[in-house]
Amino acid sequence: MSDNDTTGQIIRLYADVATVQIGEGTVQCAIRGKLFKSAPPAVGDWVQLDESHDPPVITAVLPRKSVLARRAAGTVPRRHVLVANVDQVIVVFAAANPEPHTAMLDRFLVVAEDDDLAVHIVVNKMDLASEEEIRPLFAPYEKAGYPVHYTSKRTGQGLEELRQALEGKESVFVGPSGVGKSSLLNALYPGLDLKVGLVSEAYGKGRHTTVGGLLIKLPNSASVADTAGLRELGLWMIPPDELPHCFPEFRPYLGQCRFSDCAHLSEPGCAITAAVESGDIDERRYDSYTKLRAEATATWPRW
Ligand code: GDP
Ligand code: ZN
Repeated sequence: MSDNDTTGQIIRLYADVATVQIGEGTVQCAIRGKLFKSAPPAVGDWVQLDESHDPPVITAVLPRKSVLARRAAGTVPRRHVLVANVDQVIVVFAAANPEPHTAMLDRFLVVAEDDDLAVHIVVNKMDLASEEEIRPLFAPYEKAGYPVHYTSKRTGQGLEELRQALEGKESVFVGPSGVGKSSLLNALYPGLDLKVGLVSEAYGKGRHTTVGGLLIKLPNSASVADTAGLRELGLWMIPPDELPHCFPEFRPYLGQCRFSDCAHLSEPGCAITAAVESGDIDERRYDSYTKLRAEATATWPRW
């Protein structure tokens, strides 16, 4: 530490330029090259700056309280931290336009569970679908213990409840493009004036999906990070044996199978498959488990 050292939080990162918030102000910073090799900074990181340079240089990343990470693209596996220091993940899907894909939702949930982050599920655009049609689709998630918020930017449904869920927490909004993440943020925080769709457009397309991110400081100490690159989340080195724990509704049954190393696939005496058969565990969730298990098994030994 020298006299020129300051700490701040990265609120925006694009390629190798970071916007760092220090107190009420922000400053554009470069990132010391060697950090990219050891611990590349992420949106949400608290960092140390050397302000004797112009622009100031990020020299160190301070310890993180949490990360949301994914497997980075490429032949050499790398852990890509999408956002650091958030308290919870808000997974947003639309009731329609685009249609909700629960298999993709399950993937988001597993990554968040593996990173020990709390999750809220938001089903937006409820004005475009009927409650009777949509609620059964998300009932298994409510049963598994996830708070599910049914919202509409059009009618205002569920917005107050969502605002309360965000209060006092640092949250990251994730979900497919076009589900209304920016719209919801604008509706919740009118002063924010996010350009609708801009975030996903600027950072979400093509092969550059892994670089960008935006953390927005909100009133009441809530803050929101909307990071791109979250749409095709890879499973970051989740050992196959840990996958069952990433499905909260499986947990009461774990340890009750006949074989202690049961993979809950086709083993006799499996408590999980028995619970699926009796209807206690949702079949669709279990299907996701088997698909993700196959993926985890295929990628794990290589690393
Ligand atoms: P993002 O990519 O997730 O940030 O999605 P946007 O916020 O850009 O929204 C995508 C489109 O969906 C825009 O045309 C919005 O006006 C529209 N949209 C967002 N929320 C709602 C909603 O609750 N109901 C309806 N009908 N349309 C919405
Ligand atoms: Zn089993």
